[in-house]
Amino acid sequence: MALRNIRLSNDEMLRKKSKPVTGITQSTLTLLDDMAETLYSQNGLGLAAPQVGVLRRIVVVDVGEGIVELINPELVEAEGTQNCYEGCLSIPDVSGLVERPLRVKIKALNRNGEEFFAEGADIAAIAFCHELDHLDGILYTDKATVIKNNEELEREEQENEARRKIMQARRERRQANGGGNRQ
Ligand SMILES: [Zn+2]
Repeated sequence: MALRNIRLSNDEMLRKKSKPVTGITQSTLTLLDDMAETLYSQNGLGLAAPQVGVLRRIVVVDVGEGIVELINPELVEAEGTQNCYEGCLSIPDVSGLVERPLRVKIKALNRNGEEFFAEGADIAAIAFCHELDHLDGILYTDKATVIKNNEELEREEQENEARRKIMQARRERRQANGGGNRQ
């Protein structure tokens, strides 16, 4: 296994449409292994072959439930919507708010060339849709309604958390005072 270089967003490779895999060879298997290793080395949730400079319809996803390898993936079912901030290993330091389905079903081949269905909800649905977009040269920034610097986003989350704690403390105070008045 080996780490592969991740192409960054100004690389025209990321804008090209990937071709279907017509036969699974040793180089396909090596690519899958390398993509998983590269994904883990970057603490990412998903990686598509064009991100490592290979214009083939292959993605790997791991949202914490183990690696899912998809060859020639096709979205066959989607339901619901969710709006979440997502990032991309090819676009460091920022995240964007994107509307995605809440649940998806993907048809794909596994590394043995057998057809299977992968289902994903919540973050898995986001990861599948994000990676499938890469195979058509689409980046999440094409779809995002808001794009924020990760530092800014983290600061906002901390502020929200602080605000939540203050509200909680006020609620508790009110309850305690209410109890006192009744006596
Ligand atoms: Zn990406």
